Amino acid sequence: MTLKFFNTLGREKKEFSPIDKSGKNVSMYSCGPTVYNYVHIGNLRAYIFVDLLKRYLKFKGYNVKHVMNLTDVDDKTIRDSQKEEKSLKEFTEFYSRAFMEDIKALNILLPDVMPKATDHIKEMVELIERMKAQGKTYEKNGTTYCKITEVDGYGELACLDCQQLKANADGRLNDADEYEKDDARDFALWKAYEEKDGDVFWETSLGKGRPGWHIECSAMSTKHLGEQFDIHTGGVDLIFPHHTNEIAQTESATGKKWVNYWLHNAHLIVNGEKMSKSLGNFYTLRDLTTKGYDPRSIRFELLKTHYRVQLDFREDELKQIPDTLNKFDEVISKLNSAKSGETNIDCKKFLLEFEEEMDDDLNISGGLAVVFDMIKEINKSIDSDGIKNKEEVIDALKKLDSVLGIMSFDAEEIPEEIVSLADRRLAAKKERDWAAADKLRDEIKSKGYEILDDKEGYRLKKA
Ligand SMILES: [Zn+2]
Repeated sequence: MTLKFFNTLGREKKEFSPIDKSGKNVSMYSCGPTVYNYVHIGNLRAYIFVDLLKRYLKFKGYNVKHVMNLTDVDDKTIRDSQKEEKSLKEFTEFYSRAFMEDIKALNILLPDVMPKATDHIKEMVELIERMKAQGKTYEKNGTTYCKITEVDGYGELACLDCQQLKANADGRLNDADEYEKDDARDFALWKAYEEKDGDVFWETSLGKGRPGWHIECSAMSTKHLGEQFDIHTGGVDLIFPHHTNEIAQTESATGKKWVNYWLHNAHLIVNGEKMSKSLGNFYTLRDLTTKGYDPRSIRFELLKTHYRVQLDFREDELKQIPDTLNKFDEVISKLNSAKSGETNIDCKKFLLEFEEEMDDDLNISGGLAVVFDMIKEINKSIDSDGIKNKEEVIDALKKLDSVLGIMSFDAEEIPEEIVSLADRRLAAKKERDWAAADKLRDEIKSKGYEILDDKEGYRLKKA
């Protein structure tokens, strides 16, 4: 079976083939958050997409080295740390920790390396020096710019011809330092120190100043993944100018093609509208958990729409998700206590169907449909003549969940005391003593357990 991804570079679905000759190792870089605030659910969608991609590559048997940066120096981090009268380090560390808490709560696998921009100033300067040696830069008033007319194939990723880029850039002349550029499309690699930067600066061979945003990702990714790697991800809003400029920088410095596959996730809107603080539809993970939504439901909501489709996030939909997720919990708990029977579930068939769907540019809705079909069949078999290959079925569900990250396989230890109350309640029901049965149900509930009636009699779970 062939794994295909929609490659923004070239705008077509392309078979995935890693650079590594053994064919086993995949290198991947994701633009991480700028740590000046709590991330919103639009950002989190991008990280859920990356998580699905990474988990699926692992499912396919690849070893994945994943690097995701933290942007801890830029205009926003400097501005807001000053507002709070904190050092840049203290300020950004606070939001870095908050980000780590968010991704852990959403069961997002941690990247192998999470480099911070401020730890890589040396590498950024080196990269700019290499560009300089190739004649791709110029300096004005202490700021070093990338000279676009010297960059071959500039803008290929964004699929725009240079004329149009020029027009776009001309329309955005709003920064004072734009005046000193040779060409409106040129962008800063190293920014000269200004009063407003306060104590944030580095003395380097390029002068006193700080890096531009784009160079941060070029330097951190090549340091940790090499000068050529397989996959680079980000939101569609990053295609231009950020990723376009990352390519210009890295390829100018190395003279080599940099990244083979560019995968971009679509935006998230809320209740059909662009998310904004003024509309009151701006959510962080904390906003949603405070309202009582559990992170697992939020993960599922962000996961279940194909990554290249705009996701319309609706609270009323989020309310329905626990019912869907309960189907997973119920089937696992039923499997754990099911007696062995006659039916063999064809696990291989379901796993292959799932893979077929996901191989097609991570078609998650097709993949989920296969999982729900499998659950239906498991339920049917348990309710009729029982399952013969119970262990294999649990293993298959675990394999599927290594991609989805939403099921829970911990067998619940129900205390004997609760089981004995439940048995007494079952006996009371048989004798049609409804009052006693209700009383026992309440007692079970007061001890933190819920009793659910089913064909075998009852099931218990933690309330
Ligand atoms: Zn980036």
